[in-house]
Amino acid sequence: MKIIMLGAPGAGKGTQAKLIAEKYGIPHISTGDIFRANIKAGTDLGKEAKEYMDKGQLVPDELTVRILLDRVLADDCADGYVLDGFPRTIPQAEVLDTEVAKLGDKIDLAIDVNVPDENIIRRMSGRRACPKCGATYHVEHIPPKKEGICDACGAELVLRDDDKPETVKKRLEVYHKQTQPLIDYYSRLNILRTVDGTKDMKDVFADIEKLLGE
Ligand code: AMP
Repeated sequence: MKIIMLGAPGAGKGTQAKLIAEKYGIPHISTGDIFRANIKAGTDLGKEAKEYMDKGQLVPDELTVRILLDRVLADDCADGYVLDGFPRTIPQAEVLDTEVAKLGDKIDLAIDVNVPDENIIRRMSGRRACPKCGATYHVEHIPPKKEGICDACGAELVLRDDDKPETVKKRLEVYHKQTQPLIDYYSRLNILRTVDGTKDMKDVFADIEKLLGE
């Protein structure tokens, strides 16, 4: 099963992608996570990607497509995967379709986790991340036991640069301009399904399970 998660940054598609991966036993592939791991490791790819990420812009297609294809062509992806944060542009979607077709295969479903912009801005400004171990929290929904401190490793939590309100607004603008056209793209291919992402996380997942077949 090859699944694509669509939705604005902060719509909860990452959380849903993880739940899908766990239940159906397929890898969860997040290009954002791959970039962040590279930034942490100080690689050239990480340095280049950070320039764009901190400004709320997309990392250029050429770079993004290369790392994504490396990952989906790995052995553990033979039975499928759930992509989170890729594709984000029409050219990325086209390359993915072409590469998957070369393997005699196709993307099964694109799931759009739909959430209005106002909700997104509220959600993202409450996110906190641990710069040391990568754990994530939310001041309202998943607060750490001690305010501002990571439960897992005791480091001081931060608001990620790309979660700052001005960056979030920029990311939403970029989303509407560059990524939303993918809704039409997958709709034309007849594989688009939309779920209401404003619901509780568990209810959103229940809706996704119905789409995928229990
Ligand atoms: P995410 O964790 O998916 O929200 O991604 C964080 C940031 O990584 C984005 O704001 C982009 O700068 C970059 N990024 C992640 N995936 C892609 C992609 N498919 N194309 C371009 N940039 C990406």
